[in-house]
Amino acid sequence: MSQGTLVKRQFGHRARLALSPAEVLKADAQAHAARTMWNLLHAWWQMMPKDKRTLANADAAIRQARKDLEFLALLPAQAAQAVLKTYVQAWRNCWDGRADAPNYKGRFRSVMSVDIPQGRDLNIKRVHRRWGMVNLPRIGRVKFRWTKDLPVGKRAGTENRITGARLVKDALGWHIAFRVMTQEARPEAHQGPEVGIDVGVSVPLALSDGGSFEHGAWLTEKEQAKLLHLEQRAAQRKQRRKPGERTSRRLRRTYDQIARLRAKAKRRAADWQHQTTTTIARAYGTVVVEALTITNMVKSARGTAEEPGKNVAQKAGLNRSIAAEAWGRTVTMLAYKTARHGGTLVKVPAPGTSRRCSACGCTTPASRESQTVFVCKNPDCGWSGNADHNAARNILHLYRIGLVAIPAAGRAVVRRARCVKPATAR
Ligand SMILES: [Zn+2]
Repeated sequence: MSQGTLVKRQFGHRARLALSPAEVLKADAQAHAARTMWNLLHAWWQMMPKDKRTLANADAAIRQARKDLEFLALLPAQAAQAVLKTYVQAWRNCWDGRADAPNYKGRFRSVMSVDIPQGRDLNIKRVHRRWGMVNLPRIGRVKFRWTKDLPVGKRAGTENRITGARLVKDALGWHIAFRVMTQEARPEAHQGPEVGIDVGVSVPLALSDGGSFEHGAWLTEKEQAKLLHLEQRAAQRKQRRKPGERTSRRLRRTYDQIARLRAKAKRRAADWQHQTTTTIARAYGTVVVEALTITNMVKSARGTAEEPGKNVAQKAGLNRSIAAEAWGRTVTMLAYKTARHGGTLVKVPAPGTSRRCSACGCTTPASRESQTVFVCKNPDCGWSGNADHNAARNILHLYRIGLVAIPAAGRAVVRRARCVKPATAR
């Protein structure tokens, strides 16, 4: 690879905003206006005959609505344009078969967000080691947590800059997600070793070289106890509610407290994932993981309206535990982080890796003695060790013999390894 070649990189960076109560109200109002705008647009779209559904007509309708309805004018004009753009894109995604048709956005079901499509007016400045300032349209100049060096001020240029942002509210409050564009020197090819990684049962991440990454509980014992207490209280209140009765303010507040604790756990989990994936990407040149299609698994358990899935609750429990470990997010992080360090991430179709012996390659019944211990039942082998590391070694082996998931139309083709006897060992 020639030295000095530059690669363009686009990524998002999310930071917490420090808003005063008045500014929170302004941001809330904008988000509600954006949602209403979407709903009006959707109603207009469905009402219009097909040949009149053009971008220009939709734009005119939006401008008229902003004149007619006072609270819609709270939304900055650019944000309103962004709603239109997102809406049209949602239809395009639907026509191309990537997503369901756009629908109305409910007040409590949808995420509150406001788009800031252009970055030039943000006027971002670092004012402290931990704080930056940013201009938000019709809200004002506000502080945000500075956790990453952003290309602003003297570091900004045509190739290194913030192209836009989005305000997003979650259980922990308002955040800003910057869209960042940078140009960096292409990294040298990583000379580090190869490693197979498995989502473990006894350890969160098991490595084929015997290493592992572990983490404690995401919530402290006190927080866990509080969460349990809140959940019980919410269940009791919900039970006492008469059918058709509105959710009380007290119950809603309990729901908010539950959501805050869960969001806290999620944020800590994401922090851990960032740290471990960075460590892995720095240490290894080739990272091999199992090609799991988690979203498909979650979807297929629920089934479709015509064909509802079987054992939904049971599978949902399993899916929830997979989602809890957020393997998909780990893989996404590994993919871009290995690339940034000059390494590669490889996915192998790996059915039965947890049941096959990594020493002799045989799948014998009951060789996985427990969740943690693997003992090979092949009389000529008898290898024993940690079950998760066994699976990680199998994954690396599958890569070394050339079994790599080949993307075909965006989906991995699963080729079954020959030695595996299906179903017998289950
Ligand atoms: Zn064996």
